[in-house]
Amino acid sequence: MNQDIHCIGCGVSIQTERPGELGFTPPSALEKEEVICQRCFRLKHYNEVQDVELSDQDFLDILHAIGSTDSLVVKIIDIFDFNGSWIPGIQRFAGRNQVLLIGNKVDLLPKSTNKNKLIQWMKAQSREMGLTPVDILLVSAEKGLGIQEALGQIETYRQGRDVYVVGCTNVGKSTFINQVIKTAAGREEVITTSHVPGTTLDMIEIPLDDGKKLVDTPGIMNHHQMAHVVSKKALKTITPKKEIKPRVYQLNERQTLFFGGLARLDYIQGGRRSIICYLSNSLDIHRTKLEKADDLYEKHAGGMLQPPNKNELEDFPELVRHEFSIKSDQTDIVFSGLGWVTVKEKGANIAAYAPKGVSVLLRPSLI
Ligand code: GDP
Repeated sequence: MNQDIHCIGCGVSIQTERPGELGFTPPSALEKEEVICQRCFRLKHYNEVQDVELSDQDFLDILHAIGSTDSLVVKIIDIFDFNGSWIPGIQRFAGRNQVLLIGNKVDLLPKSTNKNKLIQWMKAQSREMGLTPVDILLVSAEKGLGIQEALGQIETYRQGRDVYVVGCTNVGKSTFINQVIKTAAGREEVITTSHVPGTTLDMIEIPLDDGKKLVDTPGIMNHHQMAHVVSKKALKTITPKKEIKPRVYQLNERQTLFFGGLARLDYIQGGRRSIICYLSNSLDIHRTKLEKADDLYEKHAGGMLQPPNKNELEDFPELVRHEFSIKSDQTDIVFSGLGWVTVKEKGANIAAYAPKGVSVLLRPSLI
């Protein structure tokens, strides 16, 4: 056992005895100054991911420990998947510590998005979920936008204390920390980043100038996200990579939209109206009549309606129907991890379908 050596990629304890388990590395690799586990090695060099073996309870135990520290908690969320990337009970984890909320992937939102309004929206949503952040910032970790400012704010609020960075898997936490390291110390790419949720394990400590540390915590999986029911290939299609182009549909009553074969929206009643779809630009939208929708799905799921493709269809969960009556203007119907649809005016009856296990919810519109 080599309990005291940690992988510089994911932070997991290195072991040399059990190939295929977490933290394995061939003994020869231990001679290197910076040890990387085989899993991170593969990810880095072959873009190949192995599954995560830590349980939710392990993640939660680690997060609970933060409550007993005296620190600043930096919570990162994915602005494209605000609800799906929220850590339930975060205020409890943080204990008495202040929480700085950072919305990442702001590059995905249309450029015309009003950032101040968005921050107000995040504030209101946070409050509804029981969190009062000390401040809210928007960044794009990938594009390096807002990183300097975030560093400045972290410095301001931490007041000589340690910093714990928390977030769900896939929010871009590793990318953010890599940027922080790059900006602060000029070291590049020392933490694993990837498309697949669940690739950051255990804690990684990064020393700060005053002897304190910035700690990267493991990402918690939110099981109701689309990412957990689709294949890795499909995940690439549904994860937006650049600015989302909103797609506007003028719908008549009893018309249906399919989002690939992953989700469906039936516009049942409420007069002719426009709805706006915020989804990855690579995901095809098909319009049809409501009475033809079941047949169309039956015949074309895996073909015209994909992802999932034909091979993936067998393991793909059934679509579950959720019916809503829209009672407020500017309402989003959110398909967790896939995107959302904005309904501008109240008075619509809509059914939204998502794979079993993926949550669908209403919220005041983000944009
Ligand atoms: P972690 O699981 O939270 O550590 O997330 P990663 O840092 O591994 O990032 C997850 C995915 O999000 C990767 O595909 C990243 O390329 C992507 N990503 C991270 N930051 C950004 C960002 O600012 N904008 C966009 N568009 N994608 C990002």
